[in-house]
Amino acid sequence: MAKNNAPEKGKISIFAILFISLVLSCSISAIAFLLLHKYISKNQLDTIMLAISGIIGILSLIIFFLFGLLINRITIERTYIRELKNFKDFTDAIHRAQSEKEVYERMYEFICRTVMVKNITLFYKNTMPVDGIEDVVDNHWQRIGYEKVPLCNMSPKSCPVIRTGRECRITSIQNGIKCAYQLPEYKQGSYACLTIVNMESPQSILQLYSLQENAFNEALILKIKSYTEIAKTLIKSRRKISTLDKSSKFDNLTKVYNRGYFNEFIKTQVDIAQNSKEDLSIIILDIDFFKRINDTYGHFAGDHVLALFAKLVVKTVRITDLVARYGGEEFVVVLPSTDIATAHEVAERVRQTVEKAYMPPYGDIDIPFISCSVGVSSMPLFCDNKDDLIKTADLALYKAKGDGRNRTVVYERSMANVKELQ
Ligand code: GH3
Ligand code: MG
Ligand code: MG
Repeated sequence: MAKNNAPEKGKISIFAILFISLVLSCSISAIAFLLLHKYISKNQLDTIMLAISGIIGILSLIIFFLFGLLINRITIERTYIRELKNFKDFTDAIHRAQSEKEVYERMYEFICRTVMVKNITLFYKNTMPVDGIEDVVDNHWQRIGYEKVPLCNMSPKSCPVIRTGRECRITSIQNGIKCAYQLPEYKQGSYACLTIVNMESPQSILQLYSLQENAFNEALILKIKSYTEIAKTLIKSRRKISTLDKSSKFDNLTKVYNRGYFNEFIKTQVDIAQNSKEDLSIIILDIDFFKRINDTYGHFAGDHVLALFAKLVVKTVRITDLVARYGGEEFVVVLPSTDIATAHEVAERVRQTVEKAYMPPYGDIDIPFISCSVGVSSMPLFCDNKDDLIKTADLALYKAKGDGRNRTVVYERSMANVKELQ
């Protein structure tokens, strides 16, 4: 793959053009002299023939030289146009990328297309949050590259570029200072490790290896940076968007979906249920005597219990059910395609799991066992819209509290006016 870089390709030095023109014009001049001598002016003086062929030589030299310059100019312009088009395609492609990972992948693809060196490897920290309960931010380094033997062992703990944040350029593997972590399989050539996104520490590194020594001159590095600088801005913005998107969906403390997301989700689920004529059930859970936990152990211990409770609920329901924090110490579970009997079973399973669950201490504060009350409702059995579905489940929860707490109650039509009477 070791080739020269595209803009250098079309560029022929002015001396080369002059030399080629000189050779060609001398040949033409010599041919002209021989032809004149043979066919036209056998009787004339050789000096006149020499002068004529000299003039022909000079004229052809000028023509060849100008022609050479013109061809060279056209070739250079075409190369630049191709480069500009490639650059425009690149900016279009990365602007269309939806995620940080996609920006990296597209940038890598375009740099490989433009910078013709032996190997190009991209290392980047994948900070894409994984959708779901766990606040997973995968901080492991990912790698894109096709070389059989890696140039270095890329250990993030020891990599000098990551540790110092400074880029590294090795001009000659054979005759210069090398990176301590470069593998001995690479015996010749040069390499560069450039940072792309550098926040508190480098988030991505582009590693380029060439078989030629001193391959990474300023011009080439500038060219690579014209790509990475654009990608850098987009990577940062995609990262921000994904963080914002995440915080707009999830509750910070418990890591389950927040009420706003629940409201949108339930709307869609009600539409789906109505169109597919399937059941849709919901469960509302409220921790019993939660205020006492706050009052006895402090607000932070209370927060700790809320997070543990949310985890227990998520673990006990199906992956297709949506758990959200409805407010304070109240949670809601949406169970798509679930009838009331199954929803009751799930609700009871959650209640029993909570009741039996050992609560790990908060620092050195021991946390007591907790319990919760649960209300269950379902549509189309009891209602036909989102508001009534929530209301009926809430009425059932209210009954569970009134009946002594730590129990599951399924909505019944007789509960319809209970709350209004209080
Ligand atoms: P009940 O069994 O009737 O549900 O009693 P309860 O004490 O659980 O209910 P109450 O509504 O009296 O108290 C709820 C408490 O939850 C009051 C509020 O301060 C607390 N709370 C709400 N949100 C949070 C939170 O984010 N963190 C903490 N630590 N407490 C919270
Ligand atoms: Mg409560
Ligand atoms: Mg409550």
